[in-house]
Amino acid sequence: MNAEIIAIGTELLLGEIVDTNSAHIAKKLRTIGLNLFYTSSVGDNEQRITDVIKHGLERSEVVLTTGGLGPTVDDMTREAIARATDRQLFLDEKLLGEIEERFSVMGRKMTDNNKRQAYRPTDSIAISNPVGTAPSFIVDTGKSVVISLPGVPREMDYLMDCAVIPYLRERFNLKSIIKSRVLRVSGLGESVVDQHIGDLEKLSNPTVGLNAHAGFVDVRITAKAEKVEEADTMIAEVEKVARERLGDHIFGVDGDTLESVVISLLAKRSETVAVIGSGTSGRMTGRFSAADPDHKHFRGGKNVPLVESDENMETLAKSVAEEFNTTYGLACIVTHTDIRVAMWRQGKAINWRRTYTGHPDLAPEWAVNAALNELRRALM
Ligand code: ATP
Ligand code: MG
Repeated sequence: MNAEIIAIGTELLLGEIVDTNSAHIAKKLRTIGLNLFYTSSVGDNEQRITDVIKHGLERSEVVLTTGGLGPTVDDMTREAIARATDRQLFLDEKLLGEIEERFSVMGRKMTDNNKRQAYRPTDSIAISNPVGTAPSFIVDTGKSVVISLPGVPREMDYLMDCAVIPYLRERFNLKSIIKSRVLRVSGLGESVVDQHIGDLEKLSNPTVGLNAHAGFVDVRITAKAEKVEEADTMIAEVEKVARERLGDHIFGVDGDTLESVVISLLAKRSETVAVIGSGTSGRMTGRFSAADPDHKHFRGGKNVPLVESDENMETLAKSVAEEFNTTYGLACIVTHTDIRVAMWRQGKAINWRRTYTGHPDLAPEWAVNAALNELRRALM
């Protein structure tokens, strides 16, 4: 069973708006295990919209369109779907009543244009739109279905959840669900992670994919199954293997961040930290403050101007720990791609210097993640 999305609107092709609707629809299709094979965009041209829909119906069981359902002449999805499925448009009195009612509730006068929105192809299923004026509809050709959704993201979202997903589940007997779990890895680059678990990345269900960030790598395990418990078991099996291979380089799962993990480790050991940074745009302080808003374990941070950065790193880490009266002091200095990190705890210090080899813009982010990871490892 496969689906495709067609985003309609000249604004999209002009680059004036970004097609966020397709991304949202794509995510929702995943939850019911419908495979998305194509997405395309087309301008407000009836012939071209008709062509794309026709083509879509030949190669996909489910075609979802978004946009072009409004009352104006440049909204021609309705006409195009009718043409692509060899149907006529007719005035649906019930939809007309609903649209009239919405206008009167909003205290607005309905124009003749708005009446256009009550038309739908013969032999189609109407979907009322209680959150806007453009109703949607579904045409089922027997071989495939085309579903029209409004362009306004809020309306599209609502109709997708309340009408389209339930319809698709029923129509295509989609019982499977898709579940993902992300293992977050730090201290290993993407290619090293790949060397360790490359064989898992070839699996088809669950699938395993890598997503590299500056300073950590996400390993996403995605399982498709009939039941949540079944998907959980499948994920757990792959996760076990990944954990054996990557060990404590895995710092967390899903929404865990290095700073949130570090804060809970500090809490467990009743320890505290203060930080000092330069060239990090206040990242360490910002991230720690967000993870520990009461400043129970993150006691404070300082930024020093780059001119002072010739300082001895150990001295910096020690002095900030003393200033804020914490058990740990963490220092991180970034000068272009030159990165220095030091960590101090009760007379003992770790101190290193590295050249970041990625894009210089990413160096501060990478450096802070590396520094946080250093502290995490010390706390384990
Ligand atoms: P309306 O009844 O408001 O005219 P419509 O179904 O005709 O709705 P469009 O006119 O195509 O939809 O789009 C309405 C607005 O929705 C656009 O101006 C834009 O802001 C937003 N929109 C349309 N398509 C998309 C999309 N693919 N992604 C994100 N936003 C979109
Ligand atoms: Mg419109």
